Amino acid sequence: MRIGIIGGGAAGLMCTATLHETHPEWEIFLIERNDGLGKKVIISGGGRCNVTTGIQDVRNVLKHYPRGSKFLTSAMYGFPPDAVYAWFEAHGVPLKTQADQRVFPVSDNGRDIVRVFDTLFQTQNVHVLLKTHVERVDKKDGQFSLFMKGREEPLMVDKLVLTTGGQAYRHTGSTGDGYAFAVSLGHTLTPLAPSLNAFFTREKWTADVSGLSFESATITAKRGKGFSFTGPFLFTHKGVSGPAVFALSSLVAFENYDKTHPLEIKIDLFPHQTFEQLRTQRNTVIEQHGHKQFKTVLALLIPKSLVEILSQQQSLPLQQPADQTNKKTRETCLAWLKAIPLTVVQRGAGDEFVTAGGMPLSEIDPSSMESKICPGLYFAGEIMDVDGYTGGFNLQASWATGRLAGSRMIKSL
Ligand SMILES: Cc1cc2nc3c(=O)[nH]c(=O)nc-3n(C[C@H](O)[C@H](O)[C@H](O)COP(=O)(O)OP(=O)(O)OC[C@H]3O[C@@H](n4cnc5c(N)ncnc54)[C@H](O)[C@@H]3O)c2cc1C
Repeated sequence: MRIGIIGGGAAGLMCTATLHETHPEWEIFLIERNDGLGKKVIISGGGRCNVTTGIQDVRNVLKHYPRGSKFLTSAMYGFPPDAVYAWFEAHGVPLKTQADQRVFPVSDNGRDIVRVFDTLFQTQNVHVLLKTHVERVDKKDGQFSLFMKGREEPLMVDKLVLTTGGQAYRHTGSTGDGYAFAVSLGHTLTPLAPSLNAFFTREKWTADVSGLSFESATITAKRGKGFSFTGPFLFTHKGVSGPAVFALSSLVAFENYDKTHPLEIKIDLFPHQTFEQLRTQRNTVIEQHGHKQFKTVLALLIPKSLVEILSQQQSLPLQQPADQTNKKTRETCLAWLKAIPLTVVQRGAGDEFVTAGGMPLSEIDPSSMESKICPGLYFAGEIMDVDGYTGGFNLQASWATGRLAGSRMIKSL
């Protein structure tokens, strides 16, 4: 049996490992255009590699995929986060789970994750073809021909797995080639869009509070039925970022927004308090510190730098003693803190972490990852119309689908 796997990212690596560990006699050709495996795995999580999530309940894990959650059910139950955790530890990489449920190697080094596969594949029947760029694929008489740049003869394989990823961070080698391969074999392709990106805003004041972060804020976008997400949040030089913004970007991935059609968002810095509770808290601090300037009192609720912004944006006289401020001023401040308005005019261009959209899930068997259009063709990872929020969910989906493609291919033979 000869198997071709195009793409040595997370999905291709796990698929190869699964096939090889069960059937070491099979010839596997793992083809990667880069000069090393797992380039994106190595840079993920800021180089630390957020390898999976610490959330154990699979039903809860599946809620973290705006697209593909139902489709992933079999793959995720077959190789859930705790099994991924155990797999890497059994292969010599100790992991740790942070308080925010993100899982990293204890070494904080993504290279340790990739090294597992480099070591596993130093064996006779796994042919890792690095610096090898597949340009075209074809299928005839039940066999796939893989045409590679600079080679005259195609590589012939019995089964083909496409793990070429999406087209985010193109310089890592993921340029979306697999979409064209699949289309040439009879598949269609959904629209594609960047996802997990920061937002650039029309308002320039965010630069003055750049780096200011909040453990929890709710970001709401006014579009269609409305979108909202609560989580860690950060002001940046050009707008806003952080996990809550990434998640919202994923929810609005297929919405168009730019300078002429901006996306209006609102940020609630007190998502766990109602307006009324916040009013009570404010009144308490005013009672305790009424003689102080109102801006000093507000700085007991939010960082001082943000009080300055509030004062500028709402043109409020915040120098007067807190107990002398009128109701309108007090209420305007509260309203702002519960719904800071910002105008998103651009995605953090080229900086998105994943591609939303891909191979239509209706054309892939979720219990095996095999194509319903072209027998013998399998998919795994980001190439499919599956994407998750930040927090290890995208790598988890790649490990799980790579594993399922490999194990079901074994069963089918
Ligand atoms: C900066 C960044 C940080 C991230 N951090 C995290 C994180 O911490 N946790 C998380 O869960 N997710 C993270 N992600 C997302 C996650 O890394 C990806 O979703 C996941 O790696 C996708 O894996 P994949 O195997 O499907 O595809 P990829 O990792 O994209 O692999 C595809 C491979 O195919 C190769 N290839 C493509 N075309 C060809 C061709 N024609 N011939 C030969 N080879 C080809 C490419 O070179 C590439 O190596 C991050 C993404 C980015 C960009």
